[in-house]
Amino acid sequence: MFLSAATAAGVRERFGTPCYVYDRATLEASARNALSFPNAFGFTLRYAMKANPNHAVLRLFLDLGLHIDASSDHEVERALRAGFQPGKIQLTSQAPSKNLKAHVERGVLYNACSLRQLENFGEAFPGREVSIRVNPGLGSGSTNRTNVGGPGSSFGIWHEHLGEARELAGRHGLRITRMHSHIGSGTDPVVWKRCARMSLGIAGQLPEVKVLNLGGGFKVARVPGEKSTDLQDVGENLRQEFVEFRQRTGRALHLEIEPGTALVANAGCIVATVIDVVDTGKDGYLFAKLDTGMNEVTRPSLYGAQHPIDVVTAEERPLAKTVFVGPCCESGDILTPAPGDPEGLGPRDVPRPKIGDLVVVGGAGAYCAAMSTINYNSYPQAPEVLHDDGSLRLVRRRQTFEQVLQNEVSE
Ligand SMILES: *Cc1c(COP(=O)(O)O)cnc(C)c1O
Repeated sequence: MFLSAATAAGVRERFGTPCYVYDRATLEASARNALSFPNAFGFTLRYAMKANPNHAVLRLFLDLGLHIDASSDHEVERALRAGFQPGKIQLTSQAPSKNLKAHVERGVLYNACSLRQLENFGEAFPGREVSIRVNPGLGSGSTNRTNVGGPGSSFGIWHEHLGEARELAGRHGLRITRMHSHIGSGTDPVVWKRCARMSLGIAGQLPEVKVLNLGGGFKVARVPGEKSTDLQDVGENLRQEFVEFRQRTGRALHLEIEPGTALVANAGCIVATVIDVVDTGKDGYLFAKLDTGMNEVTRPSLYGAQHPIDVVTAEERPLAKTVFVGPCCESGDILTPAPGDPEGLGPRDVPRPKIGDLVVVGGAGAYCAAMSTINYNSYPQAPEVLHDDGSLRLVRRRQTFEQVLQNEVSE
């Protein structure tokens, strides 16, 4: 954990709770680790900005030379405003772009994720180079909800429809020079490697492909017992596959990966306060109610995801098995689901919590602020703070109550 007890207390004093905190040094270290990904014939690291699109994170990654994977027109705009050159941004979206012409004319790269998207691109830009996203036929995620490959996933062009993609490209004079696949989040590294091989096989059928983007999905351990994917190991395996691909086909492919989680997950936490402690008797549970929950960290409610939770106290206290819950009137607003059973309760052994205790929820840098159920129960959106070597800088203010209401129209 990057926050000392004193700094966590300082966060509460200056910004109130709940409050997101991101650590500059951890962000930089994970980006540098990913930048050293082994490769045979060139490498580009894209940041999947949907994991955490705060401008402070984007600016740091811009300075470190990362490129961007944007998942919507709005993310393209956000990356441009953060200072990324259009040519460093690639749009990979479930939704057909509403600004396709403007984006592509200024140099943003486009990754067609369906036959219809490819057709739209061909009509607007005949004769151009384009990327296609392929569903290689297999996927893997930490849960089915985070699996975006295989027959149960709508993401990308199904691998058996490659002929149609080529025909469509041919009709518009498009050259498919880049290929992309991304098969899930929290992917099993063995499946990741297998899918990488399958994607190389598909690239073999697309003779003009020069760049192969294998997406993100690298696992990050947030709590003990989970295992992070070793990027060096996956990269070395891939390097050899790329070398063999060249021996077979004579083609040296440029590699891209686009992690989100691996770059930011453990660089963020939420500083929160225990607002109540209740129990349900001798055969029941001890509950600590926090002022944070599904509104700031939805992943436990949504996927049964596990996040570390520390009760910050200098006192000697007995450990107590505690279920942590959030402040919303919703039984699913729970921070400690049972591991492997999202609907069960997973009490944690922590110093017995008291009202007013400071609590730090870890592993909250990815898909937390970015993917929160904001304003449920009318709680305002929490602020975001950048921690840099002991100093704290507000990078997004807490939403005001007036802002919660600002778009309501009264008669
Ligand atoms: C979400 C996403 C990523 C990043 O996934 P992580 O599991 O956070 O690494 C990369 N590429 C695409 C296309 C995505 O949708």
